[in-house]
Amino acid sequence: MDCVFCKIAAGEIPSKKVYEDDKVLAFYDLEPQAPVHILIIPKEHIASAAEITPENSSVVAHIYEVAAKLAAEQHLDDGFRIVCNAGKDGGQTVPHLHFHLLGGRSMKWPPG
Ligand code: AMP
Ligand code: ZN
Repeated sequence: MDCVFCKIAAGEIPSKKVYEDDKVLAFYDLEPQAPVHILIIPKEHIASAAEITPENSSVVAHIYEVAAKLAAEQHLDDGFRIVCNAGKDGGQTVPHLHFHLLGGRSMKWPPG
């Protein structure tokens, strides 16, 4: 599978890990868009949010638990944002489901 995040999950491409368990991995984004910018991914290949099904959706709840834990560890006490870009119009560039945990600055709304 020629997927950069599958390769990161398998340890074939290096990453700056912040959290790992049997189901998910969290690592720092290469091009941070905020003082804290962490990506949280399922280890299982799911192409995008459009591919979430009753069979695989439990990992999404787990990712949100991990996000809350990491936000606390990163002292994002004033708030943070979790973003999941899906597909072309959503601005997704890596076709493996991932959630951006962004914090450390005030976010704008609506997103561009
Ligand atoms: P998206 O545009 O939502 O698909 O987000 C993909 C994100 O992955 C971008 O923020 C990239 O900076 C980040 N990214 C791509 N390759 C790597 C990598 N090898 N290590 C860490 N982050 C990466
Ligand atoms: Zn993948």
